[in-house]
Amino acid sequence: MRVLITGAAGFLGSHLCDRFLADGHQVVGLDNFITGHADNIAHLIGQPDFEFVRHNISTYTYVAGPLDGVLHFASPASPIDYLEHPIPTLKVGALGTHNALGLALAKRARFFLASTSEVYGDPLVHPQPESYWGNVNPVGPRGVYDEAKRFAEAMTMAYHRYHGLDTRVVRIFNTYGPRMRPRDGRVVSNFIVQALAGEPITIYGDGSQTRSFCYVSDEVEGIYRLFTSGDNDPMNIGNPTEYTVKQLAEVVLDLTGAKVPIEMRPLPVDDPKVRKPDITRARTMLQWEPAVALRDGVARTIEYFRSLGPERLGARG
Ligand code: UDP
Repeated sequence: MRVLITGAAGFLGSHLCDRFLADGHQVVGLDNFITGHADNIAHLIGQPDFEFVRHNISTYTYVAGPLDGVLHFASPASPIDYLEHPIPTLKVGALGTHNALGLALAKRARFFLASTSEVYGDPLVHPQPESYWGNVNPVGPRGVYDEAKRFAEAMTMAYHRYHGLDTRVVRIFNTYGPRMRPRDGRVVSNFIVQALAGEPITIYGDGSQTRSFCYVSDEVEGIYRLFTSGDNDPMNIGNPTEYTVKQLAEVVLDLTGAKVPIEMRPLPVDDPKVRKPDITRARTMLQWEPAVALRDGVARTIEYFRSLGPERLGARG
């Protein structure tokens, strides 16, 4: 197969490039580096089956040659990133998805949308099955991401129903691991980087809010299986083991051995109180479930951040 991956220099996009290449496929990677980083794909540059194009998918996009798959992973995805880039976030979910769908249709390629657990908003149903419609504030600060992804899902289903395009929609829950940007603002990267830099661990609110953290290798495996053998309906891929943010802080402090204080900060607006995927559909259809426990995944992520050195550890980019 020859596939196009948008957001190829991002955290998930770069791991996905690796996964397709490892299975003997050809990959065209596309990124505009708004939140992606060249280091994430440096090891792929010059490989015969990998091409990289620096381009913004929210503008007209042409790719020469055949494509069997278009995987749309480009988007700011961390709350502080989409607050800093609200309009590009809306555009990549809306215009970027439309361009990527149009390209898939022209090439008769399978289309794969990276959607998000944020489509469930601050959920009133727990855990969240795919059939839950969500509880999203369209005009709150997170609305730029949540509504863009909800639009992207609607657009993808329209291409499937109207044009008969073969499509996939994955709803990705909190994922962590090597190649996250050190200062991307997400809780796992923040806590580890703070611990390694000797800074206070910043807990927002009282730390009782929950998330379910999936290690990147598990997430990518689920995504790959959904692409190759899933169906057209949305699919949750995430780890159903739920932790409070406070428990995560304790795991990071324990594994790094850091003796840093905990600093309480205000809870961001519309911050979901709970989040946990119901993965019954992925279990039955894809025979998929996560294999990496939080402590193991966090230990591997700590090793990654340690290997970056102090300069990248301190940088926002
Ligand atoms: N959080 C925190 N401290 C931080 C960063 C995040 O307590 O330094 C909290 C945040 O308020 C949220 C959870 O951790 O409740 C997960 O935040 P993240 O930004 O990783 O992703 P989200 O799941 O909110 O999209």
